Amino acid sequence: MTYADPERIVLPVVQSVRHTAQITAARMAGYRFKVWQDVHDNRVRPAHAFLGAPKYEYHRVPIDEPFVDLDDHKLWFPGDTSSPPQCWMNCRCYLTFVKGHAGPVGPLLVDN
Ligand SMILES: [Zn+2]
Repeated sequence: MTYADPERIVLPVVQSVRHTAQITAARMAGYRFKVWQDVHDNRVRPAHAFLGAPKYEYHRVPIDEPFVDLDDHKLWFPGDTSSPPQCWMNCRCYLTFVKGHAGPVGPLLVDN
């Protein structure tokens, strides 16, 4: 990362603020789970393809618990800069929310 790449510095900050606000709004609206969504193209990093796969145990987690990737990194949302840079740099994933154990009720709060 260099000062010649301002987007690489600013975008994760914007993403963190956006996801923190989404989680707060979803919690207030009664949503109990957050669901990791990847964009399903060939640029998605393998760790996030797992998080985006419904069969993976951490695809859907309680709203106040972190996602856990294959390398045991804990991420509170896509772009979580409290995790190592390889976990959030250029991440384009996003969240959806569900109230219970039924399927996702999108496109609530979805923004990719
Ligand atoms: Zn991602």
